[in-house]
Amino acid sequence: MPELVPIEIPPNTVMLKGLDWDSNIYFVRSGREALIVDTGTGKRARDYIGLLAGEGYLNGLREVVIFNTHEHFDHIGGNLTFKSLLEGLGIKVSFATHRIVAEIIERGLSGIILDHAYGERFKPHEVHIKLKDGDELKVGKLRLNVIHTPGHTAGSSCLYLDGDTKLMFTGDTVFNRAVGRMNLPTGSLDELRKSLRKLTGFEVDFGLPGHGWIIKDWKGNLKRVMP
Ligand SMILES: [Zn+2]
Repeated sequence: MPELVPIEIPPNTVMLKGLDWDSNIYFVRSGREALIVDTGTGKRARDYIGLLAGEGYLNGLREVVIFNTHEHFDHIGGNLTFKSLLEGLGIKVSFATHRIVAEIIERGLSGIILDHAYGERFKPHEVHIKLKDGDELKVGKLRLNVIHTPGHTAGSSCLYLDGDTKLMFTGDTVFNRAVGRMNLPTGSLDELRKSLRKLTGFEVDFGLPGHGWIIKDWKGNLKRVMP
């Protein structure tokens, strides 16, 4: 079993490499607020939250926004367990995602979420912050830009954090040396191509994907993986 080790991306971000079938999980802190990007399937939720707490990352935290890059079960299955574990530590939790994804999560549309592929049943829940392309997500002093990048699924979005270190959370839209599948429900090769071209216009130091390793050569990687 791979060991769970927090990977620090200065100045404010921690990567937790997904265990088993889980997506990667990212924790971004600003003051007493933090952002969590994706939550895995939920099976190892206690391990992730336990690690963040044990390493002191949650000390003094008051509020967490959980952002889902898209609606696949390996990215949202842990949402409710993360919420209850964090609330157990006295931290307020809200959910944010693109409005297309929000509707799927609230209605629990299994045919798109693909929970059955993991032998699980997704429990629908409320999404508090419904976003669209160009919106800003506020976390403490940070302002993250929502970039709608359909293709892997119709509501897939990336989150961009501009600063001295520029980060792009890419979900399953683009990985290190690969792109996400476009043949799952609501996927589209045409849309994916357009989204990847849109992403080429951003300056990015670290691309932080939903699976696999960090993307360091942002534009070179996009060029190589363009389908
Ligand atoms: Zn996916």
